Amino acid sequence: MKILLFGKNGQVGWELQRSLAPLGELIALDRRSIDLCGDLSNLEGIAAAVRQIRPDVIVNAAAYTAVDKAESDTAAARLVNAEAPGALAAAAHSVGAWLVHYSTDYVFDGSGNRPWHEDDATGPLSVYGRTKLDGEQRIAATCPKHLVLRTSWVYSSRGGNFAKTMLRLATERDRLTVIDDQFGAPTGADLLADVTSHMVRSITSGGDGSGGIYHLAAAGETSWHSYACFVLEQAALASKSLRASPDTVVAVPTTAFPTPAVRPHNSRLNTAKLRNRFGLHLPAWQQGVARMLAEIH
Ligand code: NDP
Repeated sequence: MKILLFGKNGQVGWELQRSLAPLGELIALDRRSIDLCGDLSNLEGIAAAVRQIRPDVIVNAAAYTAVDKAESDTAAARLVNAEAPGALAAAAHSVGAWLVHYSTDYVFDGSGNRPWHEDDATGPLSVYGRTKLDGEQRIAATCPKHLVLRTSWVYSSRGGNFAKTMLRLATERDRLTVIDDQFGAPTGADLLADVTSHMVRSITSGGDGSGGIYHLAAAGETSWHSYACFVLEQAALASKSLRASPDTVVAVPTTAFPTPAVRPHNSRLNTAKLRNRFGLHLPAWQQGVARMLAEIH
């Protein structure tokens, strides 16, 4: 099997380089790749790369993920998050390849407190959410052999992340203020990549009827405030010396931290469809976060 990966150096792309490798020949690109075009703002270039490689599976982990910047940089966000997935879908369809793509809880309006199902009405609140939804729709309309995996609150031990920021702030300050009215499940890029590989293996060994949109996130839910408390509790268990403690993490509403892009309050994703159809188990979010913290200590 031949797999063509776009966005190899992002949080998820990096982990996919590991998890997809045993499935077959992996050609991994980023926007600076030289022999083949991996720049999603070059629609003809990425289509040409697909035609040249003729992969069995394309995995697109590249995206315009600067949520606040997208509010003013709309054309660039639309090009990468909507037009490029559309071009990849057309190219995938023309060579008979599967297209695996990632989307987000930001396609929903964040109302209520019930975990979102795949077929719930969408209602993005931001440019990022709208462009990601547009990308999903272009894929669904163009390439029947697709998997669109909507996820939430992605972290990895590589690069910056929320937990590392909390740990740094907790060494500098006695007291932290963290939002407590947005709910979701922190999901490791490693879990996303591992589950993706299992799904790719399944669809390419005859699971043709399994395409479509799936929600993929770690099990359970939390708020950013409880997530921060968990991080500091784990640090205390690891005898890390911090000035702030879970008792001095102050809960504040979203309105305390105004941002250009509106974030959904309810980012909970119902993952039953994926778990049932692919026979996979999604571990509790605390398991992955504790593991990531052990890695960065
Ligand atoms: P990252 O921001 O870590 O990675 C995105 C990657 O896309 C980067 O390597 C970036 O490259 C690359 N990229 C951006 N523009 C282009 C371009 N024009 N051409 C080629 N590559 C480009 O994102 P994640 O790994 O966290 O996200 C993976 C997927 O998950 C995305 O589809 C995202 O929308 C989705 N998602 C992410 C969430 C999160 O919390 N992070 C939550 C929900 C969904 P460079 O470094 O060179 O800019």
